[in-house]
Amino acid sequence: MKQAIHLAKPTVIFIMGVSGVGKSTIGALLAKQLEIPFFDADDYHSEANILKMSQGQPLTDHDRHDWLHALNTLAVAQLKTNSCIIACSALKASYRTILETTIAAATKWVFLHGSFQQIKERMQHRSHHFMTSDLLQSQFDTLEIPQNALSIDIHVSPEEMVAKIQENLPLKAQFGLIGLGVMGKSLCRNLAQKGVRISMYNRHVPEVEEDIAINFKKEFEELSSALPFDDLPAFVNSLKTPRKIMLMVNAGTAIDAVIENLLPFLSQGDSIIDGGNSNYKKTKERFEFLKSKGIHFIGAGVSGGEEGALKGPSIMPGGNAKAYQQVQPFLERIAAKDKNGVPCCSYVGNEGSGHFVKMIHNGIEYVEMQLLADVYTLLKAKGNTPDQIADILETWKSTKNSYLLEITCTILRKKEGDDWLVNKIMDTAGNKGTGNWAIIATAELGVPSTLIASALFARYASFYKAERVAANKQFNPQQHTAPKSSLEDLHKAYQFARIINHYQGFKLIQEASERFKWALNLSELARIWTNGCIIRSDYMIELATIFKTTHNLFAHQNTVQALKARKSAIQKVVAESVLHELPIPSISNAIHFFTGYTTANSSANLLQAQRDYFGAHTYQRKEDDTGQYYHTDWQQH
Ligand code: NDP
Repeated sequence: MKQAIHLAKPTVIFIMGVSGVGKSTIGALLAKQLEIPFFDADDYHSEANILKMSQGQPLTDHDRHDWLHALNTLAVAQLKTNSCIIACSALKASYRTILETTIAAATKWVFLHGSFQQIKERMQHRSHHFMTSDLLQSQFDTLEIPQNALSIDIHVSPEEMVAKIQENLPLKAQFGLIGLGVMGKSLCRNLAQKGVRISMYNRHVPEVEEDIAINFKKEFEELSSALPFDDLPAFVNSLKTPRKIMLMVNAGTAIDAVIENLLPFLSQGDSIIDGGNSNYKKTKERFEFLKSKGIHFIGAGVSGGEEGALKGPSIMPGGNAKAYQQVQPFLERIAAKDKNGVPCCSYVGNEGSGHFVKMIHNGIEYVEMQLLADVYTLLKAKGNTPDQIADILETWKSTKNSYLLEITCTILRKKEGDDWLVNKIMDTAGNKGTGNWAIIATAELGVPSTLIASALFARYASFYKAERVAANKQFNPQQHTAPKSSLEDLHKAYQFARIINHYQGFKLIQEASERFKWALNLSELARIWTNGCIIRSDYMIELATIFKTTHNLFAHQNTVQALKARKSAIQKVVAESVLHELPIPSISNAIHFFTGYTTANSSANLLQAQRDYFGAHTYQRKEDDTGQYYHTDWQQH
């Protein structure tokens, strides 16, 4: 079904030109498409004027005076409720001044023009028009060509003329974005580059945040048709219904504040997309709350940072599947494309599942980063400079490249003066909270995502800089001697740990999918992470295929073979790191997890006995396969 196109703000469109140029035809057609009223100025002439014209006498300015004022009154009255179109010859500048009195800012002039001969022929074909073709010349003589009008040549079809007019009207925007920070700005530019008519809003904070949207629009050519706002009702009104509004504001209370401010201006059926890193539980709450108000809420994870948002991020939208269809064309248009050209944006599942998987994406990202940091620790201990480390890592790209491996090489080569910049950066790592949430989620779900914990806690530990320096003096660790493990072993250890990282990340997603009945598609998730996002890699491309056949990475023969082939290497690397006092928290955790996971008979029997001893928690027995629970009085002899 063809959707109606609406004007961004109430506007009076005057279609002007000499008689016979087609003002009424074009005006009526345009009004029909814009779904606004149409008025023909000829219908507002006095009896005396009509008589005069039918007798072939041109009207004087005096004759026109009351008529022009009546049309102005009509336009002013219409503007109070809606836009409208008025077809009126308005040949002289002075007439136009009367017509737009007090409403110049809301007036749009469209000037239809053609040759004398062309119009004369048209007039001769009309039977019931009171204007005779004899008056045409006097109209041409009177015409003062407008300077501020959209000029439309009548030699093309009425449909083409209307299309041309529409292109130049302040039409309602197709998509709105709130929050012009790092991500919001890039997404606006991406949308505009893809031909989406957007409205952009940033709050107004006197003397702090002023004219953000207006100034941003001025900076980039692609935003020339974007509508900038710092007034929320005007922003909402500028959007075509059902409205699609994306929030790129900080997660937490800012989201609730924006939703609260928006709600009074929204209509049933509008959609809000939260593209920030919101907590998935809050997304579920907001989803339910907005559902009760008839507003759709899509919690969409967006990955790729500033550059990804501009060139094509990976997008993970969750919420109501039907509501997603409304925003799907826009999100898919701006998303990165996979190797087959398919958008890296796919409906994830119900409720907060989009934000959940984004949170785990970030957890996997923490680990991928820490693994490279661990590698850096070991290669540095071997006496390599950052450039030499980059040279080594460069050779790893051919096996299984990743975005993070690539940027790490570039980072390591960056120099400032005589020294490498990385050497000058304080070794305390920040975080924005998604790793923390991932660990809370994994604990709540009872899934051992030990690598995300190792990477998160490594960041936390890094923060105790002063204490670390003091402890270093206190415990006087051995003078570091270079670890002997080969580069090949180190590479294998890194690859082994990456497999464990991806196993754990997808395992956590699978467990959440079952617990929350989200029916998540692991293969599709891996696919949308093959481009645009921070954890894109050659391995992710493989995983998109592997997850088509199994949910359990460890059950796949490729994984089994890959781990077996690298196990002894990681054992050597980790053992050496302990002896050389080199902290590699994530690589070492990978082999510890693996060893525990592949242990058929663990020490948990002793834990159960201890629990039963002090808390009568009971235990099950190996020889009893009924699953019955037993309790022992441990002190009785
Ligand atoms: P910025 O801090 O750059 O921008 C935040 C925006 O939110 C600003 O426009 C700010 O307005 C606005 N804002 C904050 N509080 C309010 C409020 N109470 N009312 C209205 N507007 C408000 O953040 P980013 O663009 O980096 O991030 C936005 C979201 O995207 C976050 O959730 C972030 O976690 C997520 N994200 C960020 C990525 C990144 O690489 N930066 C990657 C992926 C996701 P003002 O300028 O007036 O303060």
